Amino acid sequence: MTDKLQWIRDELDNLRQQGLYNNIRTIDSAQGAWLNVDGKRVLNFCSNNYLGLANEPSLKMAAQKAIDQYGVGPAAVRTIAGTLSLHRKLEQRLAAFKGVADTISFQSGFASNLATVAGLVGKEDVVFSDELNHASIIDGSRLSGARIIRYAHNNPQALEDQIKQAGAYRRALVITDGVFSMDGDIAPLPDIVEVTERHNLLLMVDDAHGEGVLGRGGRGIVDHFGLHGRVDIEIGTLSKAFGVVGGYVAAHSEIVEWLRQRGRPFLFSSAVTAADAAACLAAVDILEASTERVDKLWNNTGYFKTEMKRLGFDIGRSATPITPVMLGEAPLAQQFSRSLFERDVFAMSLGFPTVPKGKARIRVMISAAHEKTDLDRGLEAFAQVGKELGVI
Ligand SMILES: *Cc1c(COP(=O)(O)O)cnc(C)c1O
Repeated sequence: MTDKLQWIRDELDNLRQQGLYNNIRTIDSAQGAWLNVDGKRVLNFCSNNYLGLANEPSLKMAAQKAIDQYGVGPAAVRTIAGTLSLHRKLEQRLAAFKGVADTISFQSGFASNLATVAGLVGKEDVVFSDELNHASIIDGSRLSGARIIRYAHNNPQALEDQIKQAGAYRRALVITDGVFSMDGDIAPLPDIVEVTERHNLLLMVDDAHGEGVLGRGGRGIVDHFGLHGRVDIEIGTLSKAFGVVGGYVAAHSEIVEWLRQRGRPFLFSSAVTAADAAACLAAVDILEASTERVDKLWNNTGYFKTEMKRLGFDIGRSATPITPVMLGEAPLAQQFSRSLFERDVFAMSLGFPTVPKGKARIRVMISAAHEKTDLDRGLEAFAQVGKELGVI
């Protein structure tokens, strides 16, 4: 009899040999500039905790209060008995923050993308998708059954050419990431809007890394470019800058209403907990009250990137706090990450399939939680390891 599991062992061995095996580290402290990782205190360069909200006292208090009032579990999907007044309040507050008609929240950014793409297009339709879009957009597009037409990364002309060549279809949805999570570059949204308006197509932007980061006080990429009312659908996550967990869709009221009827993760998977929703509401309070954290995030980003370039590192095409340190082959990136860790700096390496083959890197995530002394400490470690491994 054949061993049903042998192929999996072989594949896992392959991953190890190619330097593509994920060694998952375990965190034993709250999120912040420093973490306890695998029993060691290390400088945190890899969280998406852009604004330092993940361990913020007012968010924690809001969550605790919500647990006292509502308990811990939602006990239902949103469409049956899972919609709390907190969920609706969060959706309304997010809509006001974003300056859109309405929003609908989901369990994650990933679920938001699956719900939206599969909710808006089907077998007779087309998705025009940037070739570097996030995995959840790709999965949502596949799930929808629509024909998927990829266009060259951040290239509005290539998008328009694909639209013209697409042939017959019923409906079409154009989708781009707002900020691309592996490179930190920003979609040329004004030009993409012009193309979609010229062809009268729905436009969806996944702004997971732009919410709380770009625009006035972190209002996102649409605000950053002043494109209010011209982007049909914005996907946000509550798990990155907002510091909690969850996702949402900001859109025309018809689209939000439709997703409440037909967004499958909304209908078939339980709601986020009261504690999550309450903590998110407290995050919106902070974002609305002041731009202080967003300003600090950008000051930290400017300082760190300038110094990394001065040291001679290739930090790619980033225009955001996402700072890829390009290293090429995956084993080198893994070695670099291990050497940083020996110097108490936690920065993970990324290889295929997260990034293309031969483009392995360390991705540093800058946060408002960092102080200048933290950044200097990190820069020193990068300089030492970079020289040791012959990268700079
Ligand atoms: C992180 C991310 C998501 C997923 O968000 P979660 O809330 O973590 O599920 C979706 N899209 C993009 C572009 C992301 O970077």
